[in-house]
Amino acid sequence: MVRAVYPGTFDPIHNGHIDIASRASYIFDEMILAVYDTPPKKLLFSTAERVTMAQEALAHLGNVQVISYTGLTVQCAHNVQAQVVVRGLRNVADFEFEYQIGLANRQLAPDVELCCLITSSEYAFLSATILKEVASLDGRYEGWTPEPVQQALRRKYAELNQSNSRRPVSEKISRSRGKLSHRG
Ligand code: ADP
Repeated sequence: MVRAVYPGTFDPIHNGHIDIASRASYIFDEMILAVYDTPPKKLLFSTAERVTMAQEALAHLGNVQVISYTGLTVQCAHNVQAQVVVRGLRNVADFEFEYQIGLANRQLAPDVELCCLITSSEYAFLSATILKEVASLDGRYEGWTPEPVQQALRRKYAELNQSNSRRPVSEKISRSRGKLSHRG
């Protein structure tokens, strides 16, 4: 029996992630999607919210479980007795990152194999960062993520906008500072 773990931030889960998780669940006997609890980047959703959205999005896959974890990914793989770590590749930048982390992980845990799945072309552009930026600027993102995640994004940005509008002007933060907005 081969068990794989698919680690990531999933802030929030989107169709590119779901595509990789579905394909991995077809290859491996069991697949555990592991939501990283405290990544060194700013998050929109709490760990509990990210786990719940992933559970809902993957409920149709019988051999998939969702957990959260802290610490090293290879330690997580050992803890859940997974032989394989799954990651998705969209482009050369992803490859370079995964190549280096993969080699480091091999030093740490030679018994854990890395399996990188190439994105389906319709999701090659998609990242959680782009999804959040479009959502924060009221753009359209149907087809990028499941409906419950779309609702959660709308709720989250409505809450953020409300708390932002209560602040003094001097403290107000802009809605987005990302690549898709005009920064002139
Ligand atoms: P991380 O912070 O670990 O990169 P992410 O949630 O951004 O976490 O991504 C988790 C995994 O899913 C990574 O392996 C990433 O390359 C992959 N991934 C993200 N977006 C896509 C996509 N559109 N298609 C395929 N794989 C993707």
